[in-house]
Amino acid sequence: MIKSFDERQQNIHKYHYSLSTHEELEIQQRLAKRVFDNTIEGIFVTDADSRILQVNRAFTEITGYLSEEVLGLTPKILQSKHHNPSFYESLWLTVTRTGSWQGEIWNRRKNGSAYLQWLSINALKNSRGDVEYYVAIFHDLSELRAREAEIEYLVNHDPLTGLGNRSKFIDRIKQKLSVERCEDQKLAVIKLDLGEIQLINDSLGYAFSDRMIQQAAKRLQQALVDQGLLVRLGADEFGILIADLEQVFDVSQILNDCKSCLQVPFELDSEHIYMNPSLGVALYPDDADNLDRLLRYSDHALKQAKADGRNTFCFYNQKMGDQAKDRLLLEQSLKEAILDNGLTLNFQPKVILKTGKVYSSEVLVRWHHPTLGPISPAEFIPIAERCGLINELGSWVMKETCYQLMMMRRAGIRLLPVAINLSVHELERPGFAQHLMSYVNHYALEPDLFEFEVTETGLISREEAVIKSLQKLRQAGFKVALDDFGTGYSSLSYVRKLPLSTLKIDKSFVKDMMEDKVSASIVETVITLANRIDVEVVAEGIESFEQQILLMQLGCKKGQGYYFYKPLKPDAFSDLLMPTG
Ligand code: C2E
Ligand code: CA
Ligand code: CA
Repeated sequence: MIKSFDERQQNIHKYHYSLSTHEELEIQQRLAKRVFDNTIEGIFVTDADSRILQVNRAFTEITGYLSEEVLGLTPKILQSKHHNPSFYESLWLTVTRTGSWQGEIWNRRKNGSAYLQWLSINALKNSRGDVEYYVAIFHDLSELRAREAEIEYLVNHDPLTGLGNRSKFIDRIKQKLSVERCEDQKLAVIKLDLGEIQLINDSLGYAFSDRMIQQAAKRLQQALVDQGLLVRLGADEFGILIADLEQVFDVSQILNDCKSCLQVPFELDSEHIYMNPSLGVALYPDDADNLDRLLRYSDHALKQAKADGRNTFCFYNQKMGDQAKDRLLLEQSLKEAILDNGLTLNFQPKVILKTGKVYSSEVLVRWHHPTLGPISPAEFIPIAERCGLINELGSWVMKETCYQLMMMRRAGIRLLPVAINLSVHELERPGFAQHLMSYVNHYALEPDLFEFEVTETGLISREEAVIKSLQKLRQAGFKVALDDFGTGYSSLSYVRKLPLSTLKIDKSFVKDMMEDKVSASIVETVITLANRIDVEVVAEGIESFEQQILLMQLGCKKGQGYYFYKPLKPDAFSDLLMPTG
């Protein structure tokens, strides 16, 4: 039988307080009971075997358990799953060694909810030094924590917009600066000013401009998506922190999005308000490597943007700013070129080396910039990939190729297969094979007229998805060539995994193979490999008769290069294929 706590308490008093008078003892006991019952801390007392002997009212209030529900049980019923067994082991080890333990612990209420409490456990020993009771006193920390969180929120947030405030901005920059980062990862600290908010305050009142600021905050947050931290620094000034940037150009896109979203007029109470946003950027590590300078320099840059007439952004480092702006302009005109038929196609014939007979051609996209003149695809394809235009560009190339083929067929030309370059990004597009097929069908062409060239760089990192996509292309009846072979990291086993029809030997090997034995043996190995895995092999970049001969000696049957044909405009290519006589 478990002795009741009162009974045991009396025993203690009998032994330890024998000097007190009966009255004194009774007063003390009543006082102790009052304290026990009325204290706001939860208290429970267990015997040496951890069975609960008594709990107070606060215990019931906090845990939800009535005294009769827990008497005789162990405190295990209060445990949550937040701690592993080693936590409890070390807790009891401390109690055994030192007689007490205190700390934070997660427990579970009767209703199942977990809560954080501050718990102190004391072992009460008898005169022989044996533990007779454990007294546990605890208070609920969840409310305190909630209040702390509320205070933390108030300290770090702007009540008007719900965004972070200056203090949060500074904390986050400090935190990002303290993280060890690799050299080419940049931070951009951006300050943004909405425009002459004072004018709005004066003419339409503070309540109106408050709503404007709230709307501006929403727009900015949408423009940023998850690319950076947006805070309100004060009045109509916002701060943006962008971390882990690889390229300065990535900031220019974000700056432009932020600027553009604010340039759309605000419609409030039938007023149309135009903002003139200015943005200033300082970069870590390019401009500064500490918080103070980053903030000051972004301020400098902001002032410069305002001085430049607003509706613009400035980098602290003007050269970077110029580059970023040039890049943005280029992106903008590329977009226009894709949408407004500003691109054209060239066809570069591929020939049988022995006879020089054209058997196929490679489609190469061309862009003649209105002021900059011709720009190489080697330059603008990566831009299109970066700024999300590559799918549109690829679709345009496919559609235009189909159109040109249809026109040739209408002109009575027997069509030869074409090879179209693909970016790996396009291959990741869901339903890509069907998408291509829709053009083929629309122009009443046959899938076996098309081969798609993909370069090995980029393939490897996204191997699984890309191989699946390539397989779908093959299933649709298209051919697949591995372009620039030898320049990436392809291992032979990797090549076997790809559903290839052709390997293209990169032009750099063709160029070097006359003087460089290593290049020549790479070419020879690729040819042998291709023969062994039963794929065609084509050498690109042939510029001389000697190269043609050597390639043939090494076993290569097909080739492409300036020595035979340069990339031709569609008319010139049609003329070439036009049956004579
Ligand atoms: P690529 O697929 O390796 O294309 C071959 C490039 O070598 C072409 O440059 C072509 O004009 C050039 N070339 C051909 N014969 C010779 C030669 O004998 N000697 C030398 N030195 N060069 C030769 P281009 O047209 O400037 O294209 C550059 C790259 O841009 C292409 O390399 C391809 O990766 C990409 N590209 C071109 N058009 C498209 C396209 O429509 N879509 C995609 N995604 N990429 C394209
Ligand atoms: Ca190619
Ligand atoms: Ca190539």
